[in-house]
Amino acid sequence: MTSLPLIPVDPDAPGARRAAMPPQHLADLDLAGRKDLVTKLGESAFRARQISTHYFGRLVRDPAQMTDLPASSRDRLADQLLPRLLTPVRELACDDGATRKALWRLHDGSLVESVLMGYPDRVTVCISSQAGCGMACPFCATGQAGLTRNLSTAEIVDQAVYLAGVAAAGKVAGSPPRLSHVVFMGMGEPLANYNRVIAAIRRLVAPAPEGLGLSQRHITVSTVGLVPAIHRLASEDLSVTLALSLHAPDDELRDELVPVNQRWKVCEVLDAAWAYAARTGRRVSIEYAMIKDVNDQPWRADLLGRLLAGKLAHVNLIPLNPTPGSRWDASPKPVEREFVRRLRDAGVSTTVRDTRGREIDGACGQLAAAEDSGTDPAGEMTE
Ligand code: SAH
Repeated sequence: MTSLPLIPVDPDAPGARRAAMPPQHLADLDLAGRKDLVTKLGESAFRARQISTHYFGRLVRDPAQMTDLPASSRDRLADQLLPRLLTPVRELACDDGATRKALWRLHDGSLVESVLMGYPDRVTVCISSQAGCGMACPFCATGQAGLTRNLSTAEIVDQAVYLAGVAAAGKVAGSPPRLSHVVFMGMGEPLANYNRVIAAIRRLVAPAPEGLGLSQRHITVSTVGLVPAIHRLASEDLSVTLALSLHAPDDELRDELVPVNQRWKVCEVLDAAWAYAARTGRRVSIEYAMIKDVNDQPWRADLLGRLLAGKLAHVNLIPLNPTPGSRWDASPKPVEREFVRRLRDAGVSTTVRDTRGREIDGACGQLAAAEDSGTDPAGEMTE
């Protein structure tokens, strides 16, 4: 067993070094807050609705295209409400254009990434909630570099709005043009940036022009298992889907794979998940990366089956996407099939996640890691 990393500090904790947050943007505010700000700028309150309709309703992010605003007001409002938060560094497409990955540079130079995935019946975006991540899971590319900073609410929302615009432009072949699902499975631990993530979810679900008008059920928050935050999430008036990155059914291995387990054990994190399911009526998604000879043994499938049988849970097995230089590999397919069989025999609903975006470094943090190290990730460049 390797020595265990320490659980990192929360950058928002009192005394923690404050990282440079971006300027305020309209997506940081609810509609009432936007109206207040617009009025303070000496403009009529209805401009807040007008500019919100452009951004959330028509997915127009460029103030120059908001031609129904008088030029003088437009500049003042754009300065205060629409600062550029995300600068595209590269966009990659694969799966015949059905998967697109975007790498952004933020105002302070941090890199984050988002992925757009088109299916015949839906369009999903996977977004980042932090630049880097402090959770230190050893199999995850983002976990290796540590946490740079929390993203602002608008930096989170703007990823979804940008990619919703890409979908609306008909660039995702064979999929509906409307963004329907958002998963917080990009970089970062969403529940470690709790207030901003909750505000971002509120923007995503508020009807236009206040927000994007997505269904709460179509939003998935994925967490390593910050137990107090899971309880807090259950008490919000939101029924988003909770995904729990379990990856091991026993504390000895989970302490290593998901170091936060040193603080909240498997039984505690599962209890929090069941409390969430009871409160919201939503089935919890249990994420389990299949790592060859590490967590894929039949006895671990049986133990997981016993923990989950009869619960409001669904297991999502993720074939490990090996990170560069990692000592770990994906489980062979026959081992994966046996794992699935044992879970289903225990009465636990189980699926294996598709491996979208592999050739464009689809897994968590790999594109940003490649950019930082100067290696060129494979994949077709689009402009
Ligand atoms: N911090 C959150 C969300 C980000 S990652 C969380 O941990 O849940 C989204 C999912 O991808 C998590 O289940 C994470 O464990 C998994 N993941 C990270 N790196 C991976 C890799 N190399 N291969 C397969 N899954 C990975």
